Amino acid sequence: MNTKQADFFYVANTYGRFDVALQQGSGAGYVDEDGKAYIDFGSGIAVNTFGSCDPEWVVAVTAQLNTMGHTSNLYYSAPQARLAQMLCEKTGMKKVFFGNSGAEANECALKIARKYGESTGRSTIVTLKSSFHGRTIATLAATGQDKFHEHFGPFPGGFEYITPGDEDELTAALTSGQVCGILMEMVQGEGGVNVLDKSYVQLAAKLCRENDVLFMVDEVQTGNGRTGKLFGFMHYDVQPDVFTTAKGLAGGLPMGACVIGEKAENVLGKGDHGSTFGGNPICAAGAVNVLSRLTDEMLEEVTAKGEYIRQELENAPGVNGITGLGLMLGISTEKPNTQIAADCLRSGLLVLTAKDKVRLLPPLNISFEALKQGIAILKENL
Ligand SMILES: *Cc1c(COP(=O)(O)O)cnc(C)c1O
Repeated sequence: MNTKQADFFYVANTYGRFDVALQQGSGAGYVDEDGKAYIDFGSGIAVNTFGSCDPEWVVAVTAQLNTMGHTSNLYYSAPQARLAQMLCEKTGMKKVFFGNSGAEANECALKIARKYGESTGRSTIVTLKSSFHGRTIATLAATGQDKFHEHFGPFPGGFEYITPGDEDELTAALTSGQVCGILMEMVQGEGGVNVLDKSYVQLAAKLCRENDVLFMVDEVQTGNGRTGKLFGFMHYDVQPDVFTTAKGLAGGLPMGACVIGEKAENVLGKGDHGSTFGGNPICAAGAVNVLSRLTDEMLEEVTAKGEYIRQELENAPGVNGITGLGLMLGISTEKPNTQIAADCLRSGLLVLTAKDKVRLLPPLNISFEALKQGIAILKENL
């Protein structure tokens, strides 16, 4: 049996896979089992911050693998402590809880909001329509898209969905006296690369302050340099009470973090939450390497590359518009996005889709040469 056949027979049929078995990767370049080469504009869905098998990252991770692997959270370990310190010092936050995925990071945020509101009898968590927060039962409930609320009910109650950009709905929700927290993505990723307005986000933060509601930002996709700032909220001059991140944090290893500010830093106590694998030394070492390399210079490069892609594609035939920030871009196209993704794959370019858009999430350190080649392939297929 070849890879595709074995996968078809034995892997749960939950993914609509592209018809390719990738075998080897280096930076923004992949080779499949037939020896065909690809340029990668997807980074494993914003995970491989510095591409596949980045040499510096491999050294950092293997050094930790050769020193000490998993220990459990019964003991202290340097990589986790150092990573938590880095995350807090770079963001003005106070404490970090580590899990292994975006959904787990958000699950932690939801638990913090519920316990925060407990003493005042407030349990409603507000999220936005067209959001995406994960695939567990609670994070599906938090996700503001009807299609995610099919088949798996009953879902936990206490979620309310509002329309992004509608300041009246936002004000009504946050002043109702029922709400303990609001969770939102600064750029909705899976929902179609929708950038929230600055005035809307700032109003949300202000209403949260005035009404003792936790302002929580889902940075699972927008975090770790993806948008040209270390975290997406930094474009908005706001400070979250809680933010979550995952995808690109450990540069290719599974890691999620729920990062907690002053207002909620002592909400969770001993025994309130936990994770067997969370913050393990291997993944933490990968994340320390990633964060230490997301310098101002690197972030400026991300912004410049994002602008370059926009310039190249803005007036290209077949393009109706471009949304996004930094190297998180959504392209509205005349042709169906799924057809473009399939055609690009055939021509040797890996791209993603989100809703009706073509979505680009290239590695942050992709070379201009690879960018140029990838854009040329994309243009041919638009
Ligand atoms: C991908 C994503 C998640 C879920 O992350 P998993 O690691 O798949 O659990 C949650 N929120 C946002 C914004 C995401 O993009």
